Amino acid sequence: MNLESVAGNASAGTAALNSSWIDAFLGNNPYFQAGFGLMGVGVCLGGLRKLVTVGNTALRRRLLVSVEISNKDRAYPWFLEWMAHQNAKQVMGRESFLGRPHTLSVETQVEQRHNGSSNVLFNLVAGTGLHWFNYRGVWMQIVRERQTQSLQMMSGAPWETVTLTTLSRDRGIFPQLLGEARDLALRGQEGKLTIRIPWGPEWKPFGQPCRKRPLHSVVLDEGVAENIEKDVNAFLSRREWYANRGIPYRRGYLLYGPPGSGKTSFIQALAGVLNYDICLLNLSERGLGDDRLTHLLSNAPERSFILIEDVDAAFNKRVQTSEDGYQSSVTFSGFLNAIDGVASGEERVLFLTTNHIDRLDPALIRPGRVDVAEYIGDASPLQAYTLFTRFYGADCSNSTLVELGRTIQDLVEDQMKNGKTVSMAALQGLFIRSPDAKDAVVSCRNYFHTK
Ligand code: ADP
Repeated sequence: MNLESVAGNASAGTAALNSSWIDAFLGNNPYFQAGFGLMGVGVCLGGLRKLVTVGNTALRRRLLVSVEISNKDRAYPWFLEWMAHQNAKQVMGRESFLGRPHTLSVETQVEQRHNGSSNVLFNLVAGTGLHWFNYRGVWMQIVRERQTQSLQMMSGAPWETVTLTTLSRDRGIFPQLLGEARDLALRGQEGKLTIRIPWGPEWKPFGQPCRKRPLHSVVLDEGVAENIEKDVNAFLSRREWYANRGIPYRRGYLLYGPPGSGKTSFIQALAGVLNYDICLLNLSERGLGDDRLTHLLSNAPERSFILIEDVDAAFNKRVQTSEDGYQSSVTFSGFLNAIDGVASGEERVLFLTTNHIDRLDPALIRPGRVDVAEYIGDASPLQAYTLFTRFYGADCSNSTLVELGRTIQDLVEDQMKNGKTVSMAALQGLFIRSPDAKDAVVSCRNYFHTK
């Protein structure tokens, strides 16, 4: 036996001894066995979980359908209002809003009554989180989420989404539901006029929509209201005509005359009759510059009149100053460019009002910017008569009323002979304070006497 083979046998023997020792240790050690067992269970569970997640996703993809509405979309407030409506119905016990939401948020609604007073209602809508909802026998999951990390740049409101999920086979329910929400929202606005004001580069509703004013309730001099209404209607029906001739589709109206003669009231009433909204622009608004003005005028919502009141005050001597002396950054040339609206091919109906037409720059009232200028003056005798009969009953067979009306007419005529006038707003004030027609005549006589 040589030395080398002795050494080799010795190391082989040591290795065999080591492995049998480890085998014996691991095989006989209950802790290791339990550890391996647990590890196996963990791996299996992990795999199962993954399988469930993948299966769930696949199942959701195949069987479920989701609709996401973000608060950028017009349908968002409609949907919330609709939910509030459903919730209110549930409270009244008329219909089931299954799966009562646990988190609620308040939707405050101001309801204007016919007599002009208003009522504030608090509707509870599903707040952020997950809700279950049954609509026409179809179950759906509603998740309302709010992103607190980022805010909307202009309004400062957080971004929100509502995601509706239901079975794929019931996908037809979504258009139905959204259509119902839209109809409900628009029904609430029927007979109402929405006034919008600028909010950043956008227009947002100012307060609640107000009741439309009947056009005949604004009594203008003979033929004036008819002229403007006819012109606006003719313009609105000639979109093609303008397009075919490559003429920008816009028209400007200037109503000028003393204060309280019904300029604003008439524009609002006309918008109401035509189902248009009003976008009210104040050129003295802080932070309003040429760019934003151009953007606002080019991006007014469809079916709306843009109304700029007291335009003389805004551009007196081509410098734009507010009452407190603040000068906004709108320049006269910027304003002209904005109303010329080179950037926009959309319909544009612009109404300007002023008490002092003589103060307006001729560049502003040239055709193309102002196409129709109408004088709306103080009360004519006939206007005073008509307003009187509208207030105290327009029954022409009532001879006493007609006679009292004629007295008012004569009083106004006498005033005019003396070079004095009375505004329609002042007459309205006198009539509001007089409970009946006879009182109104006395009040008018006293008023004219002291004038
Ligand atoms: P303006 O814009 O010419 O200053 P407004 O339209 O603001 O006048 O009218 C002020 C008030 O006077 C309103 O309440 C309105 O009802 C009333 N009024 C003014 N003119 C008329 C009019 N021609 N017919 C009926 N009401 C009028």
